[in-house]
This record gives sequence, structure tokens and C-alpha cells, in this order.
Amino acid sequence: TAESAKSFFRRNAFVLFTIAAVLLGIILAFSLRPYQLTYRQIKYFSFPGELLMRMLQMLVLPLIVSSLITGMASLDGRASGKMGMRAVVYYMVTTIIAVFIGILMVIIIHPGKGSKDKLHREGRIEQVQTTDAFMDLVRNMFPPNLVEACFKQYKTQYTTRVFTRTVLHSSNVTAAVTTTQISVPENSTEVIPIPGSANGVNALGLVVFSMCFGLVIGSMKQKGRALREFFNCLNEAIMRLVAIIIWYAPVGIMFLIAGKILEMDDLAVMGGQLGMYTLTVIVGLLIHALCILPLLYFIVTHRNPWVFIAGLLQALITALGTSSSSATLPITFRCLEENNGVDRRITRFVLPVGATINMDGTALYEALAAIFIAQVNNYELDFGQIITISITATAASIGAAGIPQAGLVTMVIVLTSVGLPTEDITLIIAVDWFLDRLRTTTNVLGDSLGAGIVEHLSRRELDAQDCELGNSVTEEK
Ligand code: ASP
Repeated sequence: TAESAKSFFRRNAFVLFTIAAVLLGIILAFSLRPYQLTYRQIKYFSFPGELLMRMLQMLVLPLIVSSLITGMASLDGRASGKMGMRAVVYYMVTTIIAVFIGILMVIIIHPGKGSKDKLHREGRIEQVQTTDAFMDLVRNMFPPNLVEACFKQYKTQYTTRVFTRTVLHSSNVTAAVTTTQISVPENSTEVIPIPGSANGVNALGLVVFSMCFGLVIGSMKQKGRALREFFNCLNEAIMRLVAIIIWYAPVGIMFLIAGKILEMDDLAVMGGQLGMYTLTVIVGLLIHALCILPLLYFIVTHRNPWVFIAGLLQALITALGTSSSSATLPITFRCLEENNGVDRRITRFVLPVGATINMDGTALYEALAAIFIAQVNNYELDFGQIITISITATAASIGAAGIPQAGLVTMVIVLTSVGLPTEDITLIIAVDWFLDRLRTTTNVLGDSLGAGIVEHLSRRELDAQDCELGNSVTEEK
């Protein structure tokens, strides 16, 4: 069986490399930690990782646009409507379940136990109005300038401003919950980059535009052919680039992970309530990702979810390494199409939307974190407020861009909706880089299983279309 071992290796080479890279990265980082590299040295060290991130991000924009346009243009309006409905129902159901699990876990485990402070803050920082935040979400769906939407990330006017002030303002406030203080170096703007403020893409706006545009091209029949072919070809070409970059991915991931471990604070920060909080989030995410989602997949498709998930490993590890579901998108595409054989008409249509709006991990985390902050402040939430948190956490997960720590920024909406102090976000900042990676992995898993489920449910429409295409090909002949 040397032959079969060889063929196993060939089939799984990428995944094996990637797993080895993760392990190597962890070992490397822990052996370098005693040397206490400076911030600058760590940045130099993790440069190959930064390059991977940049390469993946480079592909995201043309990938989202070309795959959505081709996806929509190749389906007839009715079929895409039905598939879209299924995808949206799946997103809603799984997000609601995720929020529910988050709330349940934080109430049962009660990580904020033992606080004596009653919520009483003077001179609250400017408050965001929940309505404003909702309106911003919708505003971003309709970018007034498409070119700008390609490089300017979805940014809520109000939330970002408040968040920026919050972080800067409270960098000298001691974090009372943790047994140790969160170390906030003097020049906090450099060391605590405001999460989610990196330049990115207004994915939500581009998704909405591309879907409409694709739909219209599809309805133009013969007249729209040139455009259809153009975007189809663009999509193919991008996927070929992905196939090249994927060879570099293990190296990049190794340095991304190693760099992050070198950067992290001493684990002492994890003591006390913050440690319990981290644990609660991990348990919640694990329940959602390893029990609920696979179960749902099994119930709908009657297929083995673990085989499907095994095909996704490379994407999941990339999500862990990059903590960005949109940067992972190219790899997710490849895993689903090449390893799991999901129909391209489905992936093209469902994945870009999923990566932008379906974030189960983020929703779970936002609800959980908000209630944790309430617990720390000894603030009793009534049932109505918990419902408010569920709704705003769902909206905040839709509004969060698929970039590192975006969820932390949109949490401002959740906190303000029930009158919790936004500056308390700083209490959880120290562990967010880690939890972000886990929730991003959950997000990617949710999107991918969703594509599998929607494909299964849409078999009839896909077959009908195959038939039609077959007929028209024979007619042409
Ligand atoms: N980083 C997450 C993602 O890209 C979003 C978040 O911060 O929750 O999916």
C-alpha cells in the first residue's frame, strides 16, 4: 500500500501541508517568545503572512463581483429567486440558533460572576442611536459610488466614530474585571489598531449591485451574451489565480499564526472573569459548529457532514489563520468546488452572499459578549432587553464586514441598544484576536454547509436547467 499512501498524500497534500504549517508556526512562536521580540521585529517576522493576507484580499473583489454576476446571469429569475429564498431562510435560522446558544451559554456559565460594581458611569461618551446604525446598514447596501465601494469598507458613520473614541478614551481606564490589567502601552494608537478600520471593500454594497446586475444580464437573453461571457471568463481566470496562491497559503498561514502568538499578551490576562468569558465563547462556538450545523446538514441532506467538513479543512484553517471570512473566500470556493463537488451555479451565487451577511459565529459572540458586559456591571437585563440584544446582535452580524475584528466594532450597536457602556468593549479586547479567529472559522463553516444544503434543496431546479441547456445544445446542432 505504498501506492495508496502515495495517492492519499497526493489528494490531501494541501491539507497536510497546511496542518503541518499551523503546528510548525505554533512551535516556532513558542520557542521565540522567551526572546521578547519588539513589536517591529514581530512585524518583520510575520511579513510572509501579511503577504498572504494581501494576496487573498486582492482576489476578493473581482471574485465577489464576477461570481455573483455570472451566478445570477446563468440562472433564470425564478430559479434564482427560489435558491435565494432557501439561502436566506438558512442564514436566518442558523443565525437565530447561534444567538440563542450564545445567550444560553452566558446565562448558564455566568462568566461575569463576582462583580461588585453597579453600573454607574459618569460622563458617558456619545451614544449611538440604534436606528442610525440600522439605517447605516441599509445605506451601505446602496453605495452611491461603485468605484469608491471597491476600496472603502462599509463604515457606519456613527459606530466607527464612537468606537474610535471609546478605545482611545478608555485606554487609560483600568480594566477592572481582569485579575491582571490589560496592558495598554502609552502610544495606544499604534499598538491597539482600531479593529475593523483597515481599508477594505464595501462588500454588502457590491453584493447587492452584482446580484441585480447579474439578474438583469440574465433576463437580456441573447443581447446580454457578451457581458455574460466576459464575467464568466473573468471568474475562471480569478479561480486559476487562486489555484496558484493556494500553494503559498501554508507558508503564509504559518507566519500569520506565529506572528500573532508572538504578539499576544501573557496568558495571565486569561485569569478570572476574562478567562471564564473566553471559555464560554469557545464552548458556545463549538456547540454551534460541531453539533448544530452538522446536525442540520445531516437532517436536510441525509449525507455525512464530517465527510463534507473534511473537504473544507483547508478553508477552515485559512479562516483560523487570517481571521477574515472574506479573505478566506477564494479558498472556500476551491474547497467546495474541487473537494466537495458542489455545483458552481450554487457556490457562485451563495458563497459571496454568505461570506458577507451570514456570520453565525459573530452573532453568537456579540450576544454573549453584551450580556457578559452586563454581568460585569451587575446590570440586570429583563426579558425584553435580552430580545433586543438578540435582534441587534443579528443585525450587527449582518453589518459586520468579513475582516478581522469587525464584530468588535459593530458591537457598539448591541451595547447601546440596551444602554450598556460602549467603553466596556475594552474589557474584552485583550482576548478578541483569539476569539475572532474561532468565530471566523465558524462563519466560514456556516457558509459552506449552507451551500451544501441549498444545493441539495435546489437539485430539481438545477436538473431542469441542465435539461434545458441540453435541449438547446441539441437544437443548435
Ligand atoms: N472576523 C470575522 C469574519 O471575518 C468577523 C468578526 O469580526 O466577527 O468573519
